[in-house]
Amino acid sequence: MTVIVMLGAPGAGKGTQAPVVAEHLGVPVLASGDLLRASVAARTALGRDAERYMNRGHLVPDETIVGVFLDRLGQADAQRGAVLDGFPRTRAQAVALDQALATAGRRVSGAILIDLPLDEVVARMANRRICTANGHVYNLVSYPPAVAGICDLDGSQLVQRPDDEEHTVRRRMAEQLPPLEEVVDHYREAGILASIDGRGSIEEVTAEVLVATDAAAERV
Ligand code: AMP
Repeated sequence: MTVIVMLGAPGAGKGTQAPVVAEHLGVPVLASGDLLRASVAARTALGRDAERYMNRGHLVPDETIVGVFLDRLGQADAQRGAVLDGFPRTRAQAVALDQALATAGRRVSGAILIDLPLDEVVARMANRRICTANGHVYNLVSYPPAVAGICDLDGSQLVQRPDDEEHTVRRRMAEQLPPLEEVVDHYREAGILASIDGRGSIEEVTAEVLVATDAAAERV
């Protein structure tokens, strides 16, 4: 049972690396942003509430995300483990995760931080595009689609997320980086943090992420 937490600023490459780690371990990726966007699309009460925060670049309140995320983690496909992308985003969420896992006799095996300087993050997010069908992620500079505006994998249209527009990005960073630091500290204090330089190519980062993954899996 291996639970890996992927950490990094929005745009650092978590969404690209998480599926690679998941495939390596044979476990699902649980992405909090995807869960929230699915609730928004389904127009549930939680989704309508979350949307107001997300479109403005705010974190949704801990009470909104913790319940829905821990429910997802409790489902059958995650019993052998999971790669968590986007959760926890605050220290309170990290503590709630530890407690929920402990009740089930489980724990976080490792946290992998993809570390990237702020300027690089802002530049990347301005170039990020995602596909409308499945959320596949592209970058107009470093990882462009074969045909402009179209997803290579499912043919759907590529769009910029409203929360990736530059003014929103700057607000997201100002608001989301301090709590991220707290989450990083939480796992550093637990002795299970691996910090990776996110400035390399996707392949270079993947190689280091997989080394950290294997070290975490050994710890189980
Ligand atoms: P992401 O796709 O991970 O960048 O998440 C998109 C947006 O969803 C974030 O900017 C937040 O508004 C919200 N969100 C995702 N995960 C969390 C979380 N763990 N806690 C609070 N808000 C979240």
